[in-house]
Amino acid sequence: MEGKKRFRLNNLDWVNTLFLTLTPLATIVLVAAYVKKDGFDPLMLIPAVLMYFISGMSITAGYHRLFSHRSYQANSFLKFIYLLFGAGAFQNSALKWCTDHRRHHTHCDDEKDPYNIREGFWWAHMGWVMVKEEEKYNGAYAKDLASDKLVWLQHKYYLPLCVLSGFIIPTIIGYFMGSALGGLAVIGVGRVVFVHHCTFFINSWAHMWGTQPYTDTNTAKDNFVLAVFSYGEGYHNFHHYFQTDYRNGVRWYQYDPTKWLINLSAKAGWAHSLKRTSEEEILKAKLEMTEKNLAVKGADLSALDHVKQSIDEAILNLQELRRELKKASDTSELEGRIKEELKALRAAFDTWSYNATKLNFA
Ligand SMILES: [Zn+2]
Ligand SMILES: [Zn+2]
Repeated sequence: MEGKKRFRLNNLDWVNTLFLTLTPLATIVLVAAYVKKDGFDPLMLIPAVLMYFISGMSITAGYHRLFSHRSYQANSFLKFIYLLFGAGAFQNSALKWCTDHRRHHTHCDDEKDPYNIREGFWWAHMGWVMVKEEEKYNGAYAKDLASDKLVWLQHKYYLPLCVLSGFIIPTIIGYFMGSALGGLAVIGVGRVVFVHHCTFFINSWAHMWGTQPYTDTNTAKDNFVLAVFSYGEGYHNFHHYFQTDYRNGVRWYQYDPTKWLINLSAKAGWAHSLKRTSEEEILKAKLEMTEKNLAVKGADLSALDHVKQSIDEAILNLQELRRELKKASDTSELEGRIKEELKALRAAFDTWSYNATKLNFA
């Protein structure tokens, strides 16, 4: 079914539709009223930016990477923060959000995908939120999450919680900065609209524009510009291929503040069991994707067969070493061998990529 065909008056979720259309208008009206009444205080932008990060990253580090994908474990304090400030992003309860998101990964790009990009940018961005949920999915919550007491409580008291953390707390902050109205307009409603679209872009933009270094079996793309707006979630091609990895921007230099927050939380003792994809698996996916792209262009890679063979061997050795590592009591020797093997793999991979790219331009 085409997204636009679902837009019928009798099929609209009026609460969501009015909220999504009226909040941008309310921002304009409230900011104008605030400036007229109290003048604009640029310092008001500091808590607004902080709340942009706290509420948005409660979605990306909490709703997404913790609750939906279980890519790490968190203590109750961290979960509480995510659930309180995630509610203030007005994107539904974690329980509902995660159910939709898991459906997105399982049925990516088909009609069971709630934000199926094949139904258009607008549908994937926010259209799907504005129509009533199909009967068969209504209340189909993730069982493992429903049995988490904190998640269940947030679901039950979602409305008062989102008003508290999304609007009341910002208004109080504004009050102490000299303008309650300014707090509501800038830190509250305006920030909600901004966070909305930054995170909605992950379902629209990240499935339309960018590169596909790891897989082309779905529409997810890597996009640095989007990563900047979306707390690091723009590396969406990596995420769709390695969805249990707590990182989306997997290289140390890739902008992924959500990954850095999870690392910091682990250092503070609030998070543990961070899941990482091994480097050999990542390189393997990259190599296969490059091979696939070059084959489409008709490139003959047979001259690089010997390099490819040493890559395959290094990957097999690493897989074996990691199996041994799991069983070993003294790990230092095995870790040293893994390091050496990874070094050899990286060198072979670089040689292969360099020559394969030259072939491409031959
Ligand atoms: Zn995901
Ligand atoms: Zn996606």
